[in-house]
Amino acid sequence: HKESFLRSNLLTILTVCGVLGGTLLGCILRSTQEEKWTPRQVMYLQFPGDIFLRMLKALIIPLLVSSVIGAIGSLDLSLSKKIAMRSILFYATTTVCAVILGIILVVTIRPGTSAAADYKDVVSVSRQTARHVLTQDTLLDLIRNLFPPNLVQATIAQTQTKLVMPENATGIPLEQWKFYESYEGTTNVLGMVVFGVVMGISLGTMGEKGKPLLVFFETLSEAMMIITSWVIWISPLGVFFLVSAKVMETESFGELVGRLGMYFMTVMLGLFLHGFGTLSVIYFICTRTLPFKTIGKLSQVLVTAFGTASSSATMPITIQTLDRMGVDPRVTRFVIPVGATINMDGTALYEAIAAIFIAQFRSIPLSFGQVVAVSITATAASIGAAGIPQAGLVTMVMVLDTVGLPAEDVTLILAVDWLLDRFRTTINVMCDSLGARLVDMLSKGELGKYDDNDKNNADPH
Ligand code: ASP
Repeated sequence: HKESFLRSNLLTILTVCGVLGGTLLGCILRSTQEEKWTPRQVMYLQFPGDIFLRMLKALIIPLLVSSVIGAIGSLDLSLSKKIAMRSILFYATTTVCAVILGIILVVTIRPGTSAAADYKDVVSVSRQTARHVLTQDTLLDLIRNLFPPNLVQATIAQTQTKLVMPENATGIPLEQWKFYESYEGTTNVLGMVVFGVVMGISLGTMGEKGKPLLVFFETLSEAMMIITSWVIWISPLGVFFLVSAKVMETESFGELVGRLGMYFMTVMLGLFLHGFGTLSVIYFICTRTLPFKTIGKLSQVLVTAFGTASSSATMPITIQTLDRMGVDPRVTRFVIPVGATINMDGTALYEAIAAIFIAQFRSIPLSFGQVVAVSITATAASIGAAGIPQAGLVTMVMVLDTVGLPAEDVTLILAVDWLLDRFRTTINVMCDSLGARLVDMLSKGELGKYDDNDKNNADPH
């Protein structure tokens, strides 16, 4: 028994060793080096990890598009709708619960108050000049991203509104600055998912005529899965180098126990309670089973999420693992890409805690209405955040804006964000996977049997 346990979990064990070994190597190197490593030296150490990340990222676009089209196209419309409704309902409920939990914790623990007493060297930022983009801009960007004007461009960039100062102008009031849409270097995953859904529906309605293209996308998705199963074996080494380089790059660990210690612990407590408390309860209510065994089977996915700090990069491995666990591929291939893009419980919880932490820190009293506004914008910010490292920090600006704090205040929590990012990504991915499992269990009866040997001709009826 022991041997088979070792063999079947070899990859997970190796990946965990990768994370632990990477941390250890980083710590040893730090303590033996007299001087701080230069960015170039860190870059060399991170290089193998970067190659691993590049491989994972290469899988995302072909996998995403083919999976969503294949999943939606091979189900009939009413069943797709049910699966979509169930997953969106689960995602929305869990995100709202995460935000509420975060707010309860931050309001009772009040980590900002104690931090403020210690934080003497903080530069105060002028509220007026520092404001760039407003909440409504971020919300409009979210909607804009749902409608990519150009698919090719959507593979490399998403819309992000900026404000620019009029030419040769100093002292011009902010209201007179111009807007422009910039396209940052992140894939517009949300837009691609929307395209996949629409395309899948249209192929589904075409009947026999749509079959060839549908088969094409399903085959592409299969092929991407095979490539994923190769790449997955590199993950132990990949996370080893990513984590050790991160440890070398980090300025100091002092803030984890110092001024930001209470904030760090509040977020960690929230993530833990949400992951193992709230999520388990919701899962139990819906399925009458406890999710702990499922979570155990997901460990490979969770460790990769921790190592890469990216829901998107982890996505191929998530889909692969759920396939192995016997979740219906037609469910996984829709629920996971959507989840990796819009369902970020850990991020939502963190955004709420961080914004209120900063307000406490700046001694800004918040009314009940403002707390509600924080919870709404934190939810929107988590939906809008891309599944890439520290994306939550960027969308935080809109949460800060609701309580009248300048964007620059995110620098207050920067020192510990790299580590929190890894933990919140783990919870994000865990919730996506549990969502897929849950929707699969709830939809089993309607889905009918999925014939593994004849994937391309999956007939839901
Ligand atoms: N890194 C997170 C993710 O990929 C997003 C964030 O919270 O920054 O899920």
